Amino acid sequence: MGRSGMQWGAVGCSGAQWGDAVVAVRGRRGAHVSLLARTAALPARDLRAVAARFDSVFLSPRSYECARLAAGTACAAVSAVLRAQVRNAVAIVRPPGHHAGPGAAGGFCLFNNVAVAAQHGQSLAGGALRVLILDWDVHHGNGTQKIFEEDPSVLYISLHRHDGSFFPGGSGGSPRRRGRGRGTGFTINVGWGGPRAGDPEYLLAMTRLVLPVACQFSPQLVLVSAGFDAGRGDPLGGCLVSPPTFGLMTHLLGGLAGGRLVLVLEGGYNLGATAEGMGQCLGVLLGTPPVLPPPRHPPTRGAAGPGAEPPPAAGVELPPPAPRRSPRSPPPRQQRAAMTSHAATMTSPAATMTSPAVAMTSRAAVMTSQPRPWTPSCAWRSCTSGTPRGGRSLLQAPPPWEGRARGPPPPPARRRRSPRRGRCSP
Ligand SMILES: [Zn+2]
Repeated sequence: MGRSGMQWGAVGCSGAQWGDAVVAVRGRRGAHVSLLARTAALPARDLRAVAARFDSVFLSPRSYECARLAAGTACAAVSAVLRAQVRNAVAIVRPPGHHAGPGAAGGFCLFNNVAVAAQHGQSLAGGALRVLILDWDVHHGNGTQKIFEEDPSVLYISLHRHDGSFFPGGSGGSPRRRGRGRGTGFTINVGWGGPRAGDPEYLLAMTRLVLPVACQFSPQLVLVSAGFDAGRGDPLGGCLVSPPTFGLMTHLLGGLAGGRLVLVLEGGYNLGATAEGMGQCLGVLLGTPPVLPPPRHPPTRGAAGPGAEPPPAAGVELPPPAPRRSPRSPPPRQQRAAMTSHAATMTSPAATMTSPAVAMTSRAAVMTSQPRPWTPSCAWRSCTSGTPRGGRSLLQAPPPWEGRARGPPPPPARRRRSPRRGRCSP
C-alpha cells in the first residue's frame, strides 16, 4: 500500500514473471510444476486421479492458472515492496499456499505462495535477505516449515492449533520442532492445545514471543501467511480471534524491517469473518490506527464498579480469583510462567489464563524493552544495530546499517570509591 492508495496485487503478475520465480527458485521442484501444468488439459476423471495423489486437494481445469496467479501476485507484491514502489502490500489470492511443500501439493494448496515470494525476494536482493514469515493461519504451515527448516536466512514462526488430528496432524507443528541443521532455532511453533484460543492468546504470543525474537533476528522483509480461519465464527478453526486483533497484529509487525510488510492470504472459510479480518489489516496498512479488540468478558449491568470482576461467559472456564497481593510481593509463580517467552509455554493453560491487559502492551513498550536472551545455535543480529527506515529500496543501495561494524562493548564504568571507604576510622 502506498500513500496514494491501493495497488492491486494482480498488477505485474505475468506468467513469465511467476514462472521464472517458481521454476528458477525451486528448480529441483520442476516436476511438480510440470505435473500441475498438464492438468489444464486433463478430463475430469484424470483430474481426480492427479488430485488423489495429494492430501485434501481438489483440481479443476483452471486450478493451475489460479495457482500461477496466486504465486505471481505474492512475488509481485514482494518486488514492489523491495523496490520501494510501495510501503507494504497485500496479496489477496486463492488457492492458499502454506501446506504446499517442496514438490507436493496439500491442504487446498498447490504452490507455496509465501515461500515462493520469500525466495523470489532473496533472488532479487542477491540472496542476502533476512525474511521473517509469520503464519497466523489456524493450521500449521507444514509446507513452509519443511521448505525453510534448514535455512537460517528465513525465520518461520507459526501460531496454530496443535491438538490431536487437527489438520495437518502429526508432530510437525509441535513446539519441539525448531528446525534442522543450520536452520536450528529458526523455526518456532506456538501450538494451541485445543480450540477457543482468542485475542489474549494471540496478543500474548505476539508481544512476548514473536516481537522479541523477531527484533533479535532483525528481518529485512516480513511476510505474513495471513489466514483468517482462527477468527471467531470460522467453521474449521474453532478459535475466537476478533477482527481487530488481526489489525493489531499487523500494526505490531509494522515496526519491523522498516515497515516492509507483505500479507498473503491463506485460509479463512467464513467469508464474513475473513473479510472483516482482512479489512482491519488493510486499514492498518493504509495508516488507520488499530482498534483494540473487545474485552473477552464485557462488564454487565450491575457490576460493582471498575474493579469488579465481570461474570464469566457461558462455556468459558475461569480460574479461581487470585488472592490480592501487596505491590511489593513477587508475582505468583504461575504468572511468571505465563510471561516466559518460550514457545512451549504457550501450550500451557497458564498462558491462556493471563490477563488481556498483559497482552495489550503497546508496541512502543515492547520494542524498547529488553527481550529475554534467547539464543539459537547461531548468532542473532541485534535489532539495536539499526532497524531500517521505510521508503528505501533494498535493491538500489545497501541499507545504511549493513556493513557497519559494531564497536566493542563500552568498558564497565569505574566505581568511584566512597571517600570514607577504605579509611580507618579514628
Ligand atoms: Zn488454515
